[in-house]
Amino acid sequence: MSLTTDQSTATAPAEKPERHVRYAILGTGFGGIGAAYRIQHDLGDRDLLIFERHPEAGGCWWANHYPGAQCDIPSDLYSLSFAPNPDWTRTYAPQGEIRDYLIGLTHTFGLRDRIKFNTTVTSARWDEDLALWRIDTTDGAYSANYLIAAPGPLAEPTLPDIEGLDEYQGTVLHTAEWNDDLDLTGKRVAVVGTGASAIQAVPRIAESALELTVFQRTPAWIMPHVDREVRSIERVIYKRLPIVQRLRRAWAFSWREAMIPGFVWMPGLQRGLESIAHRHRARQVADPELRRALTPSYRIGCKRVLPTNKWYPALQRENVTLIPHAATGLTKTGVVAADGSESEVDVVVFATGFHVADIPVGDHVAGVGGRTLTEVWDGSPQAHKGTTVAGFPNLFFLVGPNTGLGTNSIVYMIESQLNYVIGAIEATGRGKAVCDVRREAMDEYCEKMQKKIKGSVWVNGGCASWYIDANGKVTTLWPDFTFRFRQQTKHFDSGAYRITPVPARTTA
Ligand code: NAP
Repeated sequence: MSLTTDQSTATAPAEKPERHVRYAILGTGFGGIGAAYRIQHDLGDRDLLIFERHPEAGGCWWANHYPGAQCDIPSDLYSLSFAPNPDWTRTYAPQGEIRDYLIGLTHTFGLRDRIKFNTTVTSARWDEDLALWRIDTTDGAYSANYLIAAPGPLAEPTLPDIEGLDEYQGTVLHTAEWNDDLDLTGKRVAVVGTGASAIQAVPRIAESALELTVFQRTPAWIMPHVDREVRSIERVIYKRLPIVQRLRRAWAFSWREAMIPGFVWMPGLQRGLESIAHRHRARQVADPELRRALTPSYRIGCKRVLPTNKWYPALQRENVTLIPHAATGLTKTGVVAADGSESEVDVVVFATGFHVADIPVGDHVAGVGGRTLTEVWDGSPQAHKGTTVAGFPNLFFLVGPNTGLGTNSIVYMIESQLNYVIGAIEATGRGKAVCDVRREAMDEYCEKMQKKIKGSVWVNGGCASWYIDANGKVTTLWPDFTFRFRQQTKHFDSGAYRITPVPARTTA
C-alpha cells in the first residue's frame, strides 16, 4: 500500500526534478503487481513505476504479520491465475507464504527496478491543462498519464473511539502493526475485538501470555475449518501436472460461488450454514453460559464468517477470560469494559480492523476542479464497475467501491478489473487520450448496485459491520456471482466514457 493518511513522514524533497512515467501504480499487493505485469505483458510497456510505502512488496500481506495470520480463502484459489503456486504448504496459506509469493512475483515479473520502496504518495492531482496526474511522494514529484490505485481496503488500521488511549502506560499495538520483538511470555494481555484477525491471533497469544483477556462486543459466526498440510506428493503433482491444481482451484471457486445466493437473494439458505456453525459451537464449547455469550444474534454472513477450529478451545484455556462486552476505555493500568469491569494488563492488542468503507486514499486524490474523492463521495464511495470515478480521468481503482467479497477470492475480482483497465488503456491509445466516465453512466451503475444489495444479508442481517458506509449504504461489497463481475469487466465499455485526446506535449 502506498498512500498514507500519516502526513508526519510525508516530506517531499523539493529540488528533485519531476519525473514522468506513463503509468503510476500505488501499492504492491495483488492489485499493483498484477497491474504492472499486465501492462508489461499485454501492452509491452515498461514505462511504469509502482510506489510502495513499505520496504518490501506484499501490501497487507507484508504488513499483517501478527501471530497466527493466515488466509481464510483456499490457497489454490488465492493466487493470480497466470502465476499459480504449487508450493503452498497448507490448504489455507499462512501469511508469510503469501507475502513471499508476492515478493517472488516482483522478481519473476522483473519488477524490482520499477518499484519505489519506502515511498509514500502524499497527493495525486489531476492537471486539467496538461491532462496528466501530478503525484507528490516522499521521493519527489512525478507525473503520469494513468494512475492505477491499488492501496487495498485493509491498509489503514483503526482504533476504537475509547477514552484513555493516551493515559494507558503499558504497551499498545494493533494486529496490523505487530512488533515481532514483543515477548508476551509472562505478560497479562488484553485483546480487543473478535473479528478475523483476533480469532487467528488469540490462540497463539494464549500460548505465551500469562493471562489473556478478550473483549468481545459482538460474537462472530464461527465455522469449522478444513485447513490441513498440503502433502509433498500433492505438491509434486501440482508441479508436474498443473491441471490438477487448476481443477482444485475451479472446485474451490465453485463451492464459494454457490454460497452467494444465500448472501444476496435467498436468506433462507443461510440456515444451513447457521446450523453447521451452531453444531461446531456445541461440539467445542461445553459451558452453556459461555456458549450463550458466543452465540451471534444476527444472520450468518452479515459480518464476515470466520473459519477456525482453534478459537473456542483457546477461549476455554485456564489463562484466558472472555469479557462479553465492548472495551470502553483504558486507564493507566488496564482496560475498562462496558459492564464497568476493569482488567489490569501489561499489553493491549487492538484487533479492531481497518478503515474500509471510508477509503482513506480518497483524501489524497483530487480530480477535475481540485475536489478530492472524499469530497465527491461524501461518505458513500461510488465508481463505475468499481473502477472509474466521474471527474477523475485516467484513474483506475483496484478493489474500488462495491468490489469486495464476503465469500470468494478478491484476487479473482482484481483480475477482472485488470481486464477492464487494459481495455481502457488501449481505448485511450496508451497515453494519447483521456477517459472520464460519464456521471450518468456511473450513477446508473451504482443505483443498480444499491438495488441489488437491498435484499442482502449485509443490509438485512441485523448487524453493524464495516461493510456499511457513513450514510448507511453497503458500498463495499459486490452483490452478485463473481463470474458476473468478470463478464461485466471483460471489455471496456467506451460508450460510458468521454474520451478526449490529450495535448500533444503531454504524450510520451
Ligand atoms: P474486523 O473484522 O473489523 O473486526 C474488528 C473487531 O473489533 C470486531 O470484532 C469489532 O466488534 C471489534 N471491536 C471494535 N471496537 C471494539 C471495542 N471497543 N470493544 C470490543 N471490540 C471492539 O477487523 P479484522 O479482524 O482485522 O478483520 C478485517 C478484515 O480483514 C476481515 O473481515 C477480512 O476481510 C480481513 N482479514 C482476513 C484474514 C484472513 O484472510 N484470514 C485475516 C484477518 C483479516 P464488532 O463486531 O462489534 O464491530
